[in-house]
Amino acid sequence: MLPYFVDFYGNPSSMHTFGGNIKHYIRKAREKVAKIINAEPEEILFTSCGTESDNTAIISAMKSAPKKKHIITTRVEHPAVKNMAEHLIKEGMRVTFVPVDNNGRLDLDYLYDSLTDDTSVVSIMWANNETGVIFPIEEISDVLKDKNVIFHTDAVQAVGKVPIDVKKVNVDMLSLSGHKLHAPKGIGALYIRRGTRFSPFMVGGHQEKGRRGGTENVASIIGLGKACELAASHLEDEGSKVKKLRDRLETQILKSIPGSSVNGDINNRLPGTTNISFEYVEGEAILLMLNEYGICASSGSACTSGSLEPSHVLRAMGVPYTSVHGSIRFSLSRYNTEDEIEYILEKIPGIIKRLRNMSPFWQDK
Ligand code: PLP
Repeated sequence: MLPYFVDFYGNPSSMHTFGGNIKHYIRKAREKVAKIINAEPEEILFTSCGTESDNTAIISAMKSAPKKKHIITTRVEHPAVKNMAEHLIKEGMRVTFVPVDNNGRLDLDYLYDSLTDDTSVVSIMWANNETGVIFPIEEISDVLKDKNVIFHTDAVQAVGKVPIDVKKVNVDMLSLSGHKLHAPKGIGALYIRRGTRFSPFMVGGHQEKGRRGGTENVASIIGLGKACELAASHLEDEGSKVKKLRDRLETQILKSIPGSSVNGDINNRLPGTTNISFEYVEGEAILLMLNEYGICASSGSACTSGSLEPSHVLRAMGVPYTSVHGSIRFSLSRYNTEDEIEYILEKIPGIIKRLRNMSPFWQDK
C-alpha cells in the first residue's frame, strides 16, 4: 500500500497520466478481490466497509422493486443488517426476522413460508460473527432462484475463511470487509451478480461505473486486493491449522472450567471462532482481566460493545440468562500460535475462579 500514499498519489479519475495510470492498479486489485469468490472483476464494487456494502445491497434491492414492501432477514444478523432492517420498519416496510434454534441453526421452513409476492429482498448472513455458525446459503439460493427476489448475503465473516464460489451459489449480492481478512479497516466490497437490478446508495461522481460516487480509497483498495490474494493462498491453513488451534483452546477450556459451554453448532462453524459461556460471571469482567494479560477477546460484536445489553444473537438462541452475560468470543487467525493458546489456557481458569469467588450465585461444585 505504501507507494500509493507516497509516490502514486494521483487521482485515478484524472486525465493526466500521473493520476490516470492508477486505474490500472485498481483494476488488478479488483481482479484479486473477484478471484477469492470466483466472481468476474466487473461484478465487484468497492465500498468503505462491510456496513456500507450491506446497506447498499438492501437499499438497492428495495429501490429496484419499489412496489414491494417486505424484507426477510434473520434474528442473528450483524447490526449492519439488523439495524437497517429495523430502520426500514419505521419507513413503512414489513420485516420478517427468521428465528434460529438453540445451536444457532436457521429455521429454513420459517424462511420459505415467509416468502410472498411482496418480498423484495432476502438478506441472510453466510456466517455469524458471534458464534461462527455457517448458514446453508447454497441450499437457500437454490430455493430462491425462481422467486423474483434479490438474495443478498453478508459474507463479511466468511470470505477468506471458507471457500466461496458465486458461480455455484446463486446469490445476487454478497458483502465483504477488508479488516476481517487482514486488509485495512475502512475498505469493503459488494459483489453484484451481472444482470442484477442495481441502484446506487452513494450518489455523486462517475466512479465505480456510476455505481458509487466518491474518489476511490486507492491505497486501501490495493491492500484489499493483496489481502484477498494472500487469504486465498492460505485457505487450507484456515481449515487445518487455525481450526486445530481453536479446537485445542475450546476443549481444554471446557475440560478445565466447570460451568462452561460452547454456543453454536459445533459441526458447522468458521474454523477460527469460538463463543464460550461461563455461568454466573460477567463477560465484560472476563474481557478486562484477559486484557490485563494482553489477551484480546470480545463479547458480542465490536459494534455492540459498550452496551450492557446481552447479545441479541445468544438471546435468539435461547442461551439461559445465567450464561448469556458471561459469554466471550475468541477469533483466531493464521497469525496465532500454539504458544498463545497455551498462554490463554494457563490464565483463564484463574480468572473465572476469581470472578466466581465474588459471585453470590456460584457455588463451586
Ligand atoms: N457484517 C458482519 C457479519 C460483521 O462481522 C461486520 C463487522 O464486524 C460487519 C458486517 C460490518 O463490517 P464493517 O465493520 O467493515 O463495517
